Amino acid sequence: MQPFDLVIRGGTVATATDTMRADVGIRGETIAALGLGLDRGSREIDAHGELVLPGGVDSHAHIEQLSAAGIVNSDSFETATTAAAFGGTTTVISFAAQHVGMDLKKVVEEYHQLAERGAVVDYAFHMILADPTEATLAKDVPALVQAGHSSLKVFMTYDRLRVDDEQLLDVLAAARDNGAFVCVHAENHGMITWISKRLLKGGNTAPKYHAISHPRVGEAEAFTRLIACAALVDQPIMIFHVSSAEGAAVIRQARGQGLKVFAETCPQYLFLTRHDLDKPGLEGAKWMFSPPAREKSDQEALWQALALGDLQLVSSDHAPYAFDKTGKLAAGNNPTFKQIANGMPGLEARLPLLFDAMVSKGRFDLNRFVAWTATEPAKIYGLHPKKGAIAIGADADIAIWDPKKKVTFSDATVKDRTRYTPWPGRTVTGWPTTVLRRGEIIVENGALDAPPGSGRFLPRTAGWAAQPLGRIAPEFDPRTNFKATLQQ
Ligand SMILES: [Zn+2]
Repeated sequence: MQPFDLVIRGGTVATATDTMRADVGIRGETIAALGLGLDRGSREIDAHGELVLPGGVDSHAHIEQLSAAGIVNSDSFETATTAAAFGGTTTVISFAAQHVGMDLKKVVEEYHQLAERGAVVDYAFHMILADPTEATLAKDVPALVQAGHSSLKVFMTYDRLRVDDEQLLDVLAAARDNGAFVCVHAENHGMITWISKRLLKGGNTAPKYHAISHPRVGEAEAFTRLIACAALVDQPIMIFHVSSAEGAAVIRQARGQGLKVFAETCPQYLFLTRHDLDKPGLEGAKWMFSPPAREKSDQEALWQALALGDLQLVSSDHAPYAFDKTGKLAAGNNPTFKQIANGMPGLEARLPLLFDAMVSKGRFDLNRFVAWTATEPAKIYGLHPKKGAIAIGADADIAIWDPKKKVTFSDATVKDRTRYTPWPGRTVTGWPTTVLRRGEIIVENGALDAPPGSGRFLPRTAGWAAQPLGRIAPEFDPRTNFKATLQQ
C-alpha cells in the first residue's frame, strides 16, 4: 500500500458525533485512513495529549467588502484568512456584495479576483443582493448559482443595502426557482431609523446609544415578517446573527411549525452585553456591530437555543474596521453613533472563545463544539463532507488543539488589520497550535506557511437545507385560488 504523506499520531480525534483515540493518515489533500497504529508517513506529527479536530468553517465573514457606510473594511483576503488560519478556521464563506446599480456578475468576478490573489484558506461567497432587478434575478442569479454560488443574502435594514418586502419576496422566489439558499440580516428598518433620530435629537450621540437604537422588538418583528414571506413562497432561509431571547423564540415557534428556518448566532452575542459599548469617549465604537449585544439573559437564551437545535451554528460575522480614520472614525473625530461603521473582527477569536466556554469550562462537549463551528455550517451550506469533517475522503483540513494552552487576548497579537481585539485581557484555555489545509501544514509554531492565493474557491450546490418543503400557500394552490394564473 502507498505510504502516507503525513500521519497525525496519537491524538484524540473528535467529530460532531464521536471522540476517539486515532491516528489520521493523509495522502495528498485528503484523509486516507483513521485507526490505531497506522504505518509511518513521510512526515509525522506527534499529537499525544492534543485534540485533532476538523478545521473550522466560518460561514459569515465580511472581507474586502464595501460596507453599508460606504467604506471598505480593513482586511484583505490575505489578512482576514491569515487571522482565520491562526484561529483554526480553514474554510470561510465571505460575501460578494452588490450595491444598488451594480452588475452582480461583475461584482462576483471582482471578489473572485480579490480572493484568488490573497486567500490562504478555502472560501466561497454568499451573493448579497441590494438591487434585485429583473435582469439580476432572471439572468445573473441562475448563471451564478450554476457556477457554484448557491446562497444569496439580503438585508432588511441599512439605507444602502436593504430590500423592501416586495423585493425580499422576489429574491426568495428566485432562490427557490434556482435551488439556492437565502441568508438574511433581519431587523425592522423603520424602528431603527425612527428611534435613532430621536436619540440624536436628544443629544445621545455616544457609541453606547447604538445598543438602544436597534430595538429588541425590531428583531423579533423582522424575523416574523421574514418567516412569513419565506413561507409564502416555500423557500428555506438562514437568519443571521440572532441576538435576543425574543428572536430565538420566534425561530423556535417557526421550527415547531415545521418550517425550514435555520439560524446562527455569533460569539459577540454569547459573551458581550450592551454594557461593553459603555466606554469613555469613542472607545465603545470597537464594540459596535448590528444587531447590538444585548443582556446577560439573552446570552443564556442563545446558548439554550443552540442546545435545543433552534440555532444550528456559530459564525463570526467578522466585519473589521480599524479604530482610526480608515475605519471606525472615518467620519472624523467626533462622530455620532450613526456615523460609525458597524462590525468587529472575529475570524481569529471565534473558535478559541467557544472552545474555552464550551469545552474547557465544561458547558458543552467537544462534539457539539465541532458541530456548531464546523460540521453544521458545512452541511447547511453544501460543503460537507469535503469540509467540516474528519472522515476518510474528506479534505485534510485539520486543527490540532492544545487543550491546556492559555492565551490572553491583546491588541499586540491581533492577526487581522483592525489592530484591536474586542477581547482585551480575556484569557482562554485551549488553542489550535497546528493547522492543516488540504494536507498542508499552514500554521505551526506560531508561524504561517501558506502563500497568498493558495486558498481555493469552493463551488457549492445547495444541499438539503435549501430544498423547499413542497408546502404550497393557498394563494398559489389551484384548488383555493380560483385557478389564478400566478407563477409561484
Ligand atoms: Zn454580517
